[in-house]
Amino acid sequence: MKQLTGLAAILAMTTLMTTGCGGDRNTTDTAADNFQWQIDRFDDINVLRYQVPDFDSLTLRQKQFIYYLSQAAICGRDILYDQNCKYNLPVRRTLEAIYTGADGVDKTAGEWKAFEKYLKKVWFANGVHHHYSGDKFKPEFNESYFDTLLAATPAERLGDIQGSLLDTVKLVIFDPTLYPKRVDQTAGVDMVAASACNYYDGVTQSEAEAFYTALTDTTDKQPVSYGLNSQLSKGKDGKVVERVWSANGMYGPAIREIVKWLELAAAVADTPEQEAYTKTLIEYYKTGDLRLFDEYNVAWVQDTKSTVDYVNGFIENYGDPLGYKASWESTVNFKDFEATKTTRIISDNAQWFEDHSPIDPQYRKPHVKGVSAKVITVAMLGGDCYPSTPIGINLPNADWIRRDHGSKSVTIANITAAYDAAAAGNGFAEEFILRPEDRELRARWGTVGNNLHTDLHECLGHASGQLAEGVRGDELKNYGSTLEEARADLFALYYMNDPKLVELGVIPTLDVAKTEYNNYMMNGLMTQLTRIEPGKNIEEAHMRNRALIANWVYERGKEDKVVEFVTENGKTFVMVNDYEKLRGLFGELLKEIQRIKSEGDFKAGMELVENYGVKVDPKLHGEVLERYAALNIAPYSGFVNPRYIPVSDDKGAISDVKIEYPMDYVEQMLTYSSDYSFLPNRN
Ligand code: ZN
Repeated sequence: MKQLTGLAAILAMTTLMTTGCGGDRNTTDTAADNFQWQIDRFDDINVLRYQVPDFDSLTLRQKQFIYYLSQAAICGRDILYDQNCKYNLPVRRTLEAIYTGADGVDKTAGEWKAFEKYLKKVWFANGVHHHYSGDKFKPEFNESYFDTLLAATPAERLGDIQGSLLDTVKLVIFDPTLYPKRVDQTAGVDMVAASACNYYDGVTQSEAEAFYTALTDTTDKQPVSYGLNSQLSKGKDGKVVERVWSANGMYGPAIREIVKWLELAAAVADTPEQEAYTKTLIEYYKTGDLRLFDEYNVAWVQDTKSTVDYVNGFIENYGDPLGYKASWESTVNFKDFEATKTTRIISDNAQWFEDHSPIDPQYRKPHVKGVSAKVITVAMLGGDCYPSTPIGINLPNADWIRRDHGSKSVTIANITAAYDAAAAGNGFAEEFILRPEDRELRARWGTVGNNLHTDLHECLGHASGQLAEGVRGDELKNYGSTLEEARADLFALYYMNDPKLVELGVIPTLDVAKTEYNNYMMNGLMTQLTRIEPGKNIEEAHMRNRALIANWVYERGKEDKVVEFVTENGKTFVMVNDYEKLRGLFGELLKEIQRIKSEGDFKAGMELVENYGVKVDPKLHGEVLERYAALNIAPYSGFVNPRYIPVSDDKGAISDVKIEYPMDYVEQMLTYSSDYSFLPNRN
């Protein structure tokens, strides 16, 4: 609902589902053939690189703009660590001090390798909890070994991490009962107390809810996003207060660095409008005034002319169990003009799709407001988009801005291309797809189908539908994000197989839909289970959404064998038999989930999610884990960033910006930690 990016959802699908060889856009790029995509591998993680095609064809001014924005994109890294858990910064710094400073330690020993792996995981997750599941990492080395490492590390390297703070750091690393989950949305618990994230300090869930309910003015048609940019804590007098994240507030030292680079960027923006809203963003960062953030967003969403674009701020609230507070993130990107043509066709026809949506007519939007869609090349990732990153984004999140001004939807082509190139030939299709014709379809249309799903999900799905009179939009509570993702996915799936897409020239054949249906059902019913630890349920919202959809349509179509499980040689396969009927079932579920959202029907929403999206069949789960392990495919991927190097002329002015593609994950992390770390250990 508030959270409208396809982020992890689509990211997950791509990492799990694509094995094709790059699709139409990438196959002729011979330079890409020699590019080393994967540069590191540890635990369940692949670290990849992405290319920034056409960077050199940008103007000098645009390159400069990207350079300044890319610096601003790195400067907020510490903020995210602290948001994820208040001890993440001292934990990271302790680990780094040991890693770079420990003397006389055997670095070939298994324990050292385990220590290094733990640090790599902390970097990847921006903290001690898994970036996707939110579970705290278990170190594979013991505390006495850690003490040995600490003893071998010069004390001055640890700065103020001494005494009780160092004791706490050790507890955070080694005590599994302390901060076990970053976000805990288990029904019935105090979600604030149970979650390790640092958005609330010393307040209970009911105090937090009371605080924000009191601020809500139901007559305000343009409410600010209350609580978005602050920590809620208790003042000395025991009163609940917000500590606002601004240049002079909490996280001030990092925000002032961001502002410094944004000021340089504003001076070389693409258009006067872009310069103006960048200055509004700067004012917002300086003051923390959420009205300025809305003002910035309204101007930003209307800017469809700029070639270079960026996101920089407190954007997504997945990390807050109550959904008020946003994690810090940034992306810098520029338009892929060629690929945007298809996306334009979809957004130009947004009203047609809305009018023909299989939902109750009263919940259709009579006037779909400016859904602007484009395909972009990302040039820099930061904060919550780094190293794990989305392949589609739809912003802004404020409901009233979306209602009155529309939203911007992007598909990130160079990230998808990198995933596909890195996954080529990993054996996944041979292992999990039974029919040879399905494997051929996937090789031919897998990437196209995936990108089309992203386009439809981001550009039409989230933007579609309307609420009934008097429904606020937050009634579905902790089930809200799962149901919202399901709604957008279903919209995409339903239209994917519509002849209208061929008629419009979006796709050449409905084979694209077939392969996407195959992939979606296989993933939702089976292969996404590779991300779940044995014995656990599905918790992450996007995974719940996919399980919900797949299980519901499977069950509804069981009698007709629309989709079936087939066993061959002891291995389970998912097979789609009737694509037309499957489309009909997607439409039926879309209708029901739209009704649930429009009417704020919490009970029906909860039942759908709990009955179809949570439980795991242990036998099938075990089989999937085994087959994945045999293939040695990492379930998650993320990226190192390119490096931008300004070149100066004799007068000291920037005459060019060069791009480099670093090969070393550890080096990038250590560089970011030494050169872009601005926050103290306690914030
Ligand atoms: Zn989404």
